[in-house]
Amino acid sequence: QALSLDACQTSPPKICICVRKRPISDKERNKNDHDSVTCLNPEVWIHSAKLRVDGITKYLDHTSFQFDYTFNEDNTTEDVYNYTTLPLIDFVCSGHGGRATVFAYGQTGSGKTYTMSGIQNMMCEDLYFLLNSADSACTTDNTNVMVSFFELYGGYVQDLLNNRNRVKVLEDGKGEVVITGLTEVESDGPNTFLEILRQGNSARTTHMTEANDASSRSHAICQIMLRDAKTNKLKGKLSLVDLAGSERGSDTKSHNSQRRAESSDINTSLLSLKECIRALDRDASKHVPYRGSKLTLILKDCFTSDRAMTTMIATVSPGASAADHSLNTLRYADRIK
Ligand code: ADP
Ligand code: MG
Repeated sequence: QALSLDACQTSPPKICICVRKRPISDKERNKNDHDSVTCLNPEVWIHSAKLRVDGITKYLDHTSFQFDYTFNEDNTTEDVYNYTTLPLIDFVCSGHGGRATVFAYGQTGSGKTYTMSGIQNMMCEDLYFLLNSADSACTTDNTNVMVSFFELYGGYVQDLLNNRNRVKVLEDGKGEVVITGLTEVESDGPNTFLEILRQGNSARTTHMTEANDASSRSHAICQIMLRDAKTNKLKGKLSLVDLAGSERGSDTKSHNSQRRAESSDINTSLLSLKECIRALDRDASKHVPYRGSKLTLILKDCFTSDRAMTTMIATVSPGASAADHSLNTLRYADRIK
């Protein structure tokens, strides 16, 4: 299937909502789970019951949604990147203080981290390609590339580039949100950038093993700030957000009280994220409820800037056993489009 890079590429909409379906895994196949999702761009179909009659597959019931783009199991991360992220890199490099954000939303195991880490790696080369091209407003001569990478876990911000140091989020008198003590590492080229990402991602993986699947209960945020080399003023910012597993917001019946608190925290943040993105598209004077959660507070400028672009990649697992979660993911994405 040839990928047509239309709408998002040439004149990117403020909000772009996509779906990515991952391939069915051997593990799922071995458990006789069957593929219950069909992406026929720009539609996605969830089949809730499937029958084989005389060798012909019949779907008994299905629900369909339409988005800006739906990527099927044959699409590569590069396809997803080209459509969702490349135009945003161009946008932040234009030097007008643009704020671009890419979210991956979906159930644990649906491909959020796979997609986001692929996007991070592809972005390195292209960012410097743009910064080294003569007609870009931001160039390596006048701009410093600064990178932060942190996790929002159990109500705390933990710095992935500094031993999970806990840092505080504050809204100062001028309404500016600052994360005090958060590391900003300068990256002087694609290789440094890749090394910073590797460091952040390995801090995530280590913690995941130590704290029983912590990565599915945390939001990971990687931010690239383009700062004026002389004044340090922010000329553009790109945030890549790997959200907590969407199903984690409903672990409210857990016997573990810490788990219940985490779950309610995740639920609150995903709900207020939805409200903030919905408010983005409306009248600029409309109130954006960014104080509803720490996640949205941290991303305040991404919602309130008049130069903001937001992309959501809703990831879904194909298995029939995950169909309820996949439906919830698509409903969530459908509400913000
Ligand atoms: P999540 O971060 O949403 O919990 P992961 O990104 O960890 O999910 O993906 C779960 C598993 O599925 C991983 O083993 C990953 O390598 C695999 N996977 C996810 N998306 C794809 C894809 N598009 N193609 C192939 N494998 C994938
Ligand atoms: Mg993950």
